[in-house]
Amino acid sequence: METLDPILQPHFETVLARNPGEGEFHQAVLEVLESLGPVVRKHQHYVDEAVIERLCEPERQLIFRVPWTDDQGRVQINRAFRVEFNSALGPYKGGLRFHPSVYLGIVKFLGFEQIFKNALTGMPIGGGKGGSDFDPKGRSDAEVMRFCQSLMTELYRHLGEYTDVPAGDIGVGGREIGYLFGQYKRITNRYESGVLTGKGLSYGGSQVRTEATGYGTVFFTEEMLRLTGRSLSGRRVIVSGSGNVAIYAAQKAAELGAQVVACSDSSGYVVDEAGLDIALLKQVKEVDRARLSAYAEQRPDASYVAGGRVWDVPCEVALPCATQNELDADAAQALVTNGVLAVAEGANMPCTPDATRVFQEKGVLFAPGKAANAGGVATSALEMQQNASRDSWSFAHTEERLRDIMVGVHERCASAADEYGTPGNYVAGANISSFLQVADAMLSLGVV
Ligand code: GLU
Repeated sequence: METLDPILQPHFETVLARNPGEGEFHQAVLEVLESLGPVVRKHQHYVDEAVIERLCEPERQLIFRVPWTDDQGRVQINRAFRVEFNSALGPYKGGLRFHPSVYLGIVKFLGFEQIFKNALTGMPIGGGKGGSDFDPKGRSDAEVMRFCQSLMTELYRHLGEYTDVPAGDIGVGGREIGYLFGQYKRITNRYESGVLTGKGLSYGGSQVRTEATGYGTVFFTEEMLRLTGRSLSGRRVIVSGSGNVAIYAAQKAAELGAQVVACSDSSGYVVDEAGLDIALLKQVKEVDRARLSAYAEQRPDASYVAGGRVWDVPCEVALPCATQNELDADAAQALVTNGVLAVAEGANMPCTPDATRVFQEKGVLFAPGKAANAGGVATSALEMQQNASRDSWSFAHTEERLRDIMVGVHERCASAADEYGTPGNYVAGANISSFLQVADAMLSLGVV
């Protein structure tokens, strides 16, 4: 694993000084800058023309109050964010996260990652992210609707299919996108389908968008394994999380012949040696909106380990699909001891820098989130294409497009890693390939 080149040290110090208290953002920036030493050594003009400083400073950051009324008639106040980070390649594109942990540092880390992820897809989309500290857990549909309507009443003025196109992330799925789109349409009096992605199929959504992040993570994993003469078939796989990304990663891995034996939530994990029952998982998590323990209650052979760590379940492939910094060096070591071959991040930045270091030092194939989970946003771009041409594609065609895109993402990472002398290092490959694309576009557009 790389360390920060002294040439980039002052740039990182500027980021620390300008963005105090935003630990996740610092971590995301450092991870990219650590890969860029060889690039700026070879092409000094990226430093001379302040491309690094420009990239680390969002083009626009919005913070606003979201007032709404709960079912008891009490006024509730949340804070919402939209960070429009970089639009060199296209309109700002990235999801909204609703979770009590959301603050500016989280949104900036996610927005920063999104710039590079979106570049890796090869689609014309810039990077942005947003969200709120609103906690949807335990809220009624009516409360969620009122919250979404209030949020959009402020956010709509900043959006547009050529300006900024949000989608979902943790805590924002089909239900929330529907309420957000409904309010946007009402306020603007425009049926502007391309202003949000992750829409329902009945009103302009795309086939495969729901499945895309998880499926894409598995397609990327297959590519990594294929290049080393292996495949997913017959392998023991674990996923962390049990939300949208985890469910569809598990489903696709099982479809490709893997044994997917464990998943988790923030209270513990489930082991199901017969292979996870995806239909039951969907019922528990998406329909009942219940805790994962309810899965084990309905499945006699599965066991639920309250408070345990899913990384202790032996596996050959681990797919962290829950949230940032969920997998530390100690967990990485446990996975290595149990014989893990490949780790692909379905979530954004789930492995701590020390965990990543353990995997790289031990020769485990490691795919960073900005590459491995790019299938979600790539399919959002396919949704935008369909909206722009007033078309809708079949599931099979859209999945084929997604698969091709993930093969392309893998290829971009692998060839940049080769070119800059770190073959097999997908972290370096992802950062370098996407940086070059965004940086060159920024320079072409002048000082704007
Ligand atoms: N939130 C997802 C991500 O982390 C998807 C964003 C989108 O579809 O715009 O990439």
